[in-house]
Amino acid sequence: MSYDIHIIGGGLAGSEAAWQLGRRGVRLRLSEMRGGGDSTPAHQGAGLAELVCSNSFRSDDDERNAVGLLHHEMRLLDSLVMRAGERARVPAGSAMAVDRDVFSAEVERELAALPSIEIVRERIDALPDAGLTIVATGPLTAASLAANIGVVTGRESLAFFDAIAPIVHRDSIDMAVCWMQSRWNKGDGKDYINCPMDKAQYLAFRQGLLDGEKGEFKEWETNTPYFEGCMPIEVMAERGEDTLRYGPMKPVGLDDPRTGRWPYAVVQLRQDNKLGTLWNMVGFQTKLKHAEQVRLFRTIPGLENAEFARLGGLHRNTFLNSPVLLDPQLRLKSAPHVRFAGQITGCEGYVESAAVGLLTGLMAVGELAGHAWQAPPRTSAMGALLAHITGDAAADSYQPMNVNFGLFPPLPELKKKQRKEAYTERAKADFGEWLAQLERVPA
Ligand SMILES: Cc1cc2nc3c(=O)[nH]c(=O)nc-3n(C[C@H](O)[C@H](O)[C@H](O)COP(=O)(O)OP(=O)(O)OC[C@H]3O[C@@H](n4cnc5c(N)ncnc54)[C@H](O)[C@@H]3O)c2cc1C
Repeated sequence: MSYDIHIIGGGLAGSEAAWQLGRRGVRLRLSEMRGGGDSTPAHQGAGLAELVCSNSFRSDDDERNAVGLLHHEMRLLDSLVMRAGERARVPAGSAMAVDRDVFSAEVERELAALPSIEIVRERIDALPDAGLTIVATGPLTAASLAANIGVVTGRESLAFFDAIAPIVHRDSIDMAVCWMQSRWNKGDGKDYINCPMDKAQYLAFRQGLLDGEKGEFKEWETNTPYFEGCMPIEVMAERGEDTLRYGPMKPVGLDDPRTGRWPYAVVQLRQDNKLGTLWNMVGFQTKLKHAEQVRLFRTIPGLENAEFARLGGLHRNTFLNSPVLLDPQLRLKSAPHVRFAGQITGCEGYVESAAVGLLTGLMAVGELAGHAWQAPPRTSAMGALLAHITGDAAADSYQPMNVNFGLFPPLPELKKKQRKEAYTERAKADFGEWLAQLERVPA
């Protein structure tokens, strides 16, 4: 069958993109390597949209939770992942969990039923030179294709590991304890938030890192290139009492305004998004278990009430430096016939990957029909996620990110408790207007 667009990768994002295109009659080829003799280290079978780990799409609360809001927006756009998820749903309280086999079978059944889609079990080893393409090969992209993407984008723009430092909501940091200053007052002079520690606090903190419960590296993760370049903070702590004080917790050139002196050690946070709502803990990538991170990091002076937009981690994960490489429509700036979708763009999670797949599907539909693309509003979950990937995030510390309210334009005048409802209310109103306008454009 000849086709108008080629989708590479039949996971969450590729399947959702295929659905958005295929149900509008666009002819497409969906290439999935599993079932054709290849697999990834995490997938078990050959089904489309296989869930590689948990069976949860997380919270389904669309009034107080950002991922629940994303579910809501995806349902309004007739998402296949949401539709199949509903049919495969199993009880999980306020979360949305699914029977993974039923879910994958439903996705595959719906796509196979669309006459304009050809599903081919094949591995693609290089980006096509021409023809509209969506690359949705995920965090475990086949090595051959990853190498080719590396050549096209420049190797330093493609990561093989995420080394995620925890990210904190700015409004949960106690600025009566912390202060803003760049080391030696360089740059703007006030680029970092600094949390000071005295000797006793530092030693107790280091001990906490040594004693804390850690996650294991899988065998295929330890063999991944570049791992040496992003050492977990607890491994640094093991190397000696002062290693951290000469590394990420170095206090030199930072004058605590309360003492006029350099503290014994310091934890620095750097702005992580243009809105200034999210700040990452510099150099704090870690394999500590999540509960342990929350407990230990809240012992840092000034972070006692810290709310984390995401916790630290290190995983095998292929992703692009999207804020630099992709345009607002997720096209490679240097080869605009190629779009990227899903986790390879640097979103994180099943739902987010599917949402970005959905958006690329809509973008490609518009492009084929010659319509101008109007992005979803910045105040919606989809719009906030897209804006983060395509330019809001800091490019030099870009790491995969779940959707969260820290990505939304802030509503600071409200009390914290009212804010979540206010975010979702604003999002629903703005998204509704965008949708009405989208529906006026014939597919
Ligand atoms: C081990 C692991 C555990 C995870 N656990 C969770 C979790 O519990 N919850 C959560 O929300 N998220 C989790 N994630 C994160 C992520 O959201 C999922 O990986 C998600 O499936 C990403 O969707 P995707 O469509 O981008 O990629 P995938 O779903 O991985 O789909 C990519 C597809 O592309 C295919 N492919 C790769 N290369 C090629 C090629 N060259 N040619 C043809 N096909 C190719 C793959 O076989 C795969 O089917 C996990 C990730 C990993 C790696």
